[in-house]
Amino acid sequence: MSQTIVVKIGTSSLTQSATGHLALSTLAALVETLTGLQKQGYRVVLVSSGAVGVGRDRLGLTERPRTIALKQAVAAVGQGRLMRVYDDLFSTLKQPIAQVLLTRGDLVQRNGYVNVYNTFQQLLKLGVIPIVNENDTVAVDELKFGDNDTLSALVASLVEADWLFLLTDVDRLYSADPRENPNAQPISLVTNMEQLEEFQVKTGDSRSGWGTGGMITKIEAARIATGSGVRTVITEGKFPQNLEKILQGEAIGTQFEPHNRPVNARKHWIANVLVPMGKIYLDAGAVRAISQGGKSLLAAGITQVEGGFNLQDSVQICNLDGQEIARGLVNYSQEELQKIKGLHSDKIPEILGYEGAETVIHRDNLVVSSSLSITGNRQQGTGNREQATGKNFSL
Ligand code: GLU
Repeated sequence: MSQTIVVKIGTSSLTQSATGHLALSTLAALVETLTGLQKQGYRVVLVSSGAVGVGRDRLGLTERPRTIALKQAVAAVGQGRLMRVYDDLFSTLKQPIAQVLLTRGDLVQRNGYVNVYNTFQQLLKLGVIPIVNENDTVAVDELKFGDNDTLSALVASLVEADWLFLLTDVDRLYSADPRENPNAQPISLVTNMEQLEEFQVKTGDSRSGWGTGGMITKIEAARIATGSGVRTVITEGKFPQNLEKILQGEAIGTQFEPHNRPVNARKHWIANVLVPMGKIYLDAGAVRAISQGGKSLLAAGITQVEGGFNLQDSVQICNLDGQEIARGLVNYSQEELQKIKGLHSDKIPEILGYEGAETVIHRDNLVVSSSLSITGNRQQGTGNREQATGKNFSL
């Protein structure tokens, strides 16, 4: 079977920093490279930012749009224009393309996820290069990928890619920001994500120009992608021709080696795609039972419940210190759990007045964090809805 590669290019690589206009030579080189790889037999997906940047340029706006409505309007102006440019360039080389606009909401229903999977399979079978972006015009805060680094990692996982290339404005990952620190050490190979602590990588969240991502989102993307078996490379967007050299084995950019354990697609979806809608706190015995014993979660071990979640929503499972130790799909709403927390399962029908599920979260729907030192969940949106990225779950 031919290899599948996902390439993500950000606004900072696609546009000229001085004028904000499209960087035509970069785009042309990217199109030539991807078409060449497609002709060699690779299945290719492009995740391209630029809707907001191109829209802003087209409208002559001098400032980054601040309100959500304006940003969504500007993205609507830019996305069509961006696709027109891609279509002209790819069509010159007789390479068919397709536009795929996604929001997290499209993937949170398991059947939606499978649907998108089937669409990608068909497109790739037809020899098409799908060009993916977040559907910025309709995405709502709670169900946003937020940045295309995360989106590209989820797409790479969805299409079961062999490679994810994150094209950016630096040539690789450094131990510190090379623009500020001349002693920053280049990193060419990361064999596991814990190594990054060893390198003491200070990524900063430098957001360049009109794009959204920084190094942090790239590392999170690498964590998601490698966790689902995708080799990930951070490399410079100005030289798309390097992709071919990297595929031939040249050590350009920073490579993150994929985990080689088998991937459970459903658990990957729970850990990385779903947005947790609440938190469940457990006593020490229940923490042990699920993190070491591989058990399902029962009501008896629950001490506290937070957030307005419903049946089948994803929730974060925390120990008494508030540290996240797992994620899973609940069989009870928050209201129901408030009534039955701490109780033995055979008391549930009496309290609720009906027979509920035996488990609060069945072990098949439970993803345990492989390291108990998870911290720093990024807050996004309102309430306690949080972005579901960058966790270190054993799947
Ligand atoms: N979807 C946004 C756009 O097309 C880009 C998001 C990002 O920069 O990561 O402008």
